[in-house]
Amino acid sequence: MAKNPKRSIDRLIEAAVQAQKRAYCPYSRYSVGAAVLTDGGRVFAGCNVENASYGLSMCAERAAIYHAVASGHDAIRAVAVVGAAAKPCGACRQVMHEFSDKDTDLYLVDLNPATGRRSVYKTTVYKLLPLAFDPLASGLLPANPRNLLRRKAAKTKRK
Ligand code: ZN
Repeated sequence: MAKNPKRSIDRLIEAAVQAQKRAYCPYSRYSVGAAVLTDGGRVFAGCNVENASYGLSMCAERAAIYHAVASGHDAIRAVAVVGAAAKPCGACRQVMHEFSDKDTDLYLVDLNPATGRRSVYKTTVYKLLPLAFDPLASGLLPANPRNLLRRKAAKTKRK
C-alpha cells in the first residue's frame, strides 16, 4: 500500500463515488460504484452496467476488478463499494475472493442520495464470504498462481 494508508483509502472511496455517478442503470435506477486498491497503490474503478437483456448486466465490483486485472494488476489490498445500502452480491464476493487475501479490506459506503451523507462500514473480503470456494485449497491453482501467470507471460514474451 502507499505511504499514507488513510490517503489511499480516501482516494479509493472517492474513485468509487465518482464511478457511481457513471453507472448505467436505466432499468433498476440503482447506481453502484466500486473501486479497488492494488498492491502497487493503483486505484481502478467500475460501475454497474445494465442491459435490456437483464441477465447481461454487470455489477460495479466485478467491473472494477476486471478493470484492474485488464490493466495488469491482480492483487487487491482494499475494495470500496458505494451505493444506497450497497453490499456485494454473492457472485461479486467470490470474484473479490479470487484476487484478495485475508487482509484485504472492504469498505461499504452507504451514500444517502437525498442528504448526500456517507457512512462507512469497514470489514474484510474474507469475512464477507466465509467458507469461500478457494482455488488454492481446491487444488485448482498452485500455491502462488500470480507467480505462475507471470512466469507464463514472461515465457510468452521470450518466444
Ligand atoms: Zn455483484
